[in-house]
Amino acid sequence: MNIAQWLYARAQLTPDAPALLQGNTLMADYGQFAAQACSVGQSLRHDHGIEPGDRIALYMPNRIEQLVLMYAAWWVGAVVVPINYKLHAKEAAWIADNAEASLVFSDDGQSLREVSLPQGCREFGVDTPDYTAMLDGSHAVAAPIPLATDTLAWLFYTSGTTGRPKGVMLTHDNLIAMSLCYAVDVAEASQHDAVFYAAPMSHGAGLYNFIFVRVGARHVVPATRGFDCAEILDLAKQLGEVSMFAAPTMVKRLVAAVKASGSDGAGIKSIICGGAPMYAADFIQALDALGPKFAQIYGQGESPMTISAMRGELIGDREHPQWGARIASVGTAQSCIELRIVDEDLRDAPLGTHGEVLVRGRTVMQGYWRNSQATQETLVDGWLRTGDIGYLNEAGFLTLTDRSKDVIISGGTNIYPREVEEVLSRHPDVFEVAVVGSPHPEWGEEVVAFVVSRKGVSVDAATLEAWCRAEIASFKKPKRYVFCQDLPKNSYGKILKTALREAANQSV
Ligand code: AMP
Repeated sequence: MNIAQWLYARAQLTPDAPALLQGNTLMADYGQFAAQACSVGQSLRHDHGIEPGDRIALYMPNRIEQLVLMYAAWWVGAVVVPINYKLHAKEAAWIADNAEASLVFSDDGQSLREVSLPQGCREFGVDTPDYTAMLDGSHAVAAPIPLATDTLAWLFYTSGTTGRPKGVMLTHDNLIAMSLCYAVDVAEASQHDAVFYAAPMSHGAGLYNFIFVRVGARHVVPATRGFDCAEILDLAKQLGEVSMFAAPTMVKRLVAAVKASGSDGAGIKSIICGGAPMYAADFIQALDALGPKFAQIYGQGESPMTISAMRGELIGDREHPQWGARIASVGTAQSCIELRIVDEDLRDAPLGTHGEVLVRGRTVMQGYWRNSQATQETLVDGWLRTGDIGYLNEAGFLTLTDRSKDVIISGGTNIYPREVEEVLSRHPDVFEVAVVGSPHPEWGEEVVAFVVSRKGVSVDAATLEAWCRAEIASFKKPKRYVFCQDLPKNSYGKILKTALREAANQSV
């Protein structure tokens, strides 16, 4: 099945329903959205020679046209390659080259002019008359071409915190399964919702468009095209029933803005948090500031947005005896997912034991684009090796401890940075923290904590040492503290632990 069928069907059902908004300005209803996607799709096919299976890259800050372009590509069976607009032009060109893209769409058609585009690839500006011509609508709205469900739809480039990004091959069926799981496992989606694209559309925020197309909701790109807390709060108040995906760093910023402005987050219905660890202390602050509006998901490009989830009802159930442990977890396996925890030899680990998270199900990728070696290493006997370490409890809640490469081995004992980070982030003067291992001549590795103090206060090593002494085993306590203004993050807001390990090494 072609996922563009969801847009076509919705346009037939509610053609006049508001579909695409830039800020609070309505740009298209569902009838117009489908007509534009169909028209651009036909133009791709007939004017630009795009064949089914060809790759079309998108490299621009969030804008509503990205949805039109994605559906246009699928309308005619092409594959989209959304590129994070925060990447350097050279990195974007590398992805376009790796994906063997035929076209790259950008704002002005000039974003990659300084770098050499791959052979046979052209850049195309959405803000140019060329694009306007594609929208001319001279082609009658016809249904999207039928496709087998295992047809490639989206090449999702990993955030590449180590090494070059890899192109995760996601099919139409992967995206359909992911979207259906949202409605069952994550949060309600309805026609009255307004889904905000405040995080990059090349990643989680964009992946969440489908279910909201299916139900005929409003799709809103803030006028600033990014994550501006004041704008989001204001727009939410105006539009109401807002759902959005946000990384934990964004949630922290939003919570700080709510507290500073005295706003209560009116108009926000659900914030789906994921992509990086959300510490229990931060969750509690977010719930106190905004109320029970949060759901959490754990996924990775290789099983997009869909490994485990925790709905708002569970997160808000403070009376439950296991509530503390639950909000420190990433919830339970989503509907189409089988989950296992295994030891280093890939044998099932006993309940409650730390091990690698393995995943099987309809959302799992077909493999990495043109990289069979990485595919073989990652997809083993039908299971996806996530590279994440975690443990399950009797009720099926998964608690993630770390990426396997981030586990610290000190004196032969495993130390899970997440556990130490949870403790430090509970200290009232700590704003952000990340814990890494640094080589040590005697112990193999020692625990080093990078700490950002809350605004207006400063915290010292002796205070944190005493705090940790009261909370965790002595061997897990940081041996060194590095105080800094902020933590290095990639363009998705993920903390760059590799950079911190290097910094820890140098700061000895
Ligand atoms: P990406 O493929 O770039 O989305 O990165 C996926 C990785 O982010 C996962 O393998 C986890 O290590 C991490 N991650 C995603 N969601 C969560 C979460 N809710 N809590 C902790 N880590 C997460």
